[in-house]
Amino acid sequence: MHSFHYKNGSLHCEDVDLDALATEYGTPLYVYSSATILDHYRRLAAELSDLDCLICFATKANSNLSVLNLLAKEGAGFDIVSGGELFRVETAGGAPGRCTFAGVGKTRAEIRQALEKGIYSFNVESEAEAAQISQIAGEMGRVAPVALRVNPNVDAKTHKYISTGKSENKFGIDFASILDAYARTAALPHLKIRGLQMHIGSQLTSVEPFVEAVTKVLPLVETLKSLYGIEFFSIGGGIGIVYHDSLASGDQAWWSGHEDTTLSFAEYASRLLPLLKPLDLRIVLEPGRVMVGNAGALITEVLYEKRGTEKTFQIVDAAMNDLIRPALYEGYHEVAPLREPTSDRIEIVDIVGPVCESGDFFAQNRSVSELCAGDRIALLSTGAYGFTMASNYNSRPLPAEILVSGDQAKVVRKRQTHRDLIAGELIPD
Ligand SMILES: *Cc1c(COP(=O)(O)O)cnc(C)c1O
Repeated sequence: MHSFHYKNGSLHCEDVDLDALATEYGTPLYVYSSATILDHYRRLAAELSDLDCLICFATKANSNLSVLNLLAKEGAGFDIVSGGELFRVETAGGAPGRCTFAGVGKTRAEIRQALEKGIYSFNVESEAEAAQISQIAGEMGRVAPVALRVNPNVDAKTHKYISTGKSENKFGIDFASILDAYARTAALPHLKIRGLQMHIGSQLTSVEPFVEAVTKVLPLVETLKSLYGIEFFSIGGGIGIVYHDSLASGDQAWWSGHEDTTLSFAEYASRLLPLLKPLDLRIVLEPGRVMVGNAGALITEVLYEKRGTEKTFQIVDAAMNDLIRPALYEGYHEVAPLREPTSDRIEIVDIVGPVCESGDFFAQNRSVSELCAGDRIALLSTGAYGFTMASNYNSRPLPAEILVSGDQAKVVRKRQTHRDLIAGELIPD
């Protein structure tokens, strides 16, 4: 469900007028729709209700406490990649017992913390890591629940930086050696083998790579079930979203019930359920982007127009430090003016930020309705890997975040101040 739409000539998130919001809280400003997040979670859970299913939201996509709290109240679990994320999940009311811990470089301190809190599973990415977890669990007098992450060597057909399931990627354990790795892991004294995990990449726009990977791994799952009595099989995250033309206009503006996933939950479930159901195991999912991506927009204001010989630049007050996806992944974000265009005058512009890098752009050679200084625009589908990847580069304070629910808008993170920027810094005497 998409909750950004024009009403009375101005862009709204649910029932909140974004221009008024920007006037009140300033720009750049991240705005999230709770209706979209809840709709996505509930529809995915409903499609998979035939399975014993644990949906672990990939916290790194959007880790604002209010977003985590919304999902925790729905009963979601969380896929975490750091001790910091575990702390966030707990603070937001999430249950550590429903957390899976992913990542190739877990530190000793993070492993201790996760054992103390009693997480559901460590998703282990190497045998060295398994040995480390066993040793720490032994020191603490605990037994650590683990799953190994298999790299199925399947092409997810996505951007190379977000493809994770090919042999050349750093993730997981090679398909060819995974059984041996399980045998050696099972021989470690302080571990309990709880499952098998995989995650082949992000922003997948077709169900085929999922089907291919699950089909390839199924015999392995059966073997592990009989050898080690595994309880769960995690098929990871990766469902893609629509970044292009995601905004409807005019009468069809409110896309209630509209599928804004490139690959619908219904299709995902109908192709995977027949493969997964007969396993009679708990199925873990780790969706990130699809839960929150289209639920968010970054609001920014045009500062200057600059006409070069080759191009026209619209310089806005948000920058790559606020949203790095275009620079990092060539990510595309739709540009929607907050005031619905009344003329059909179009110009071709680059929308760029103030940061001293040529990679600091949000759109290049984009047809947009004419803009002038003071106009505000929304960069759509920025709810995932937006704020969580933001930095203080150029000593720019982090933007505020707002959570909308119906006609209510709540500040869920205050804009940073200049004081916040230097907190913790010292000048030695
Ligand atoms: C990032 C990540 C996810 C989430 O991926 P999305 O494409 O956002 O759904 C899930 N599992 C693991 C292990 C990840 O690293």
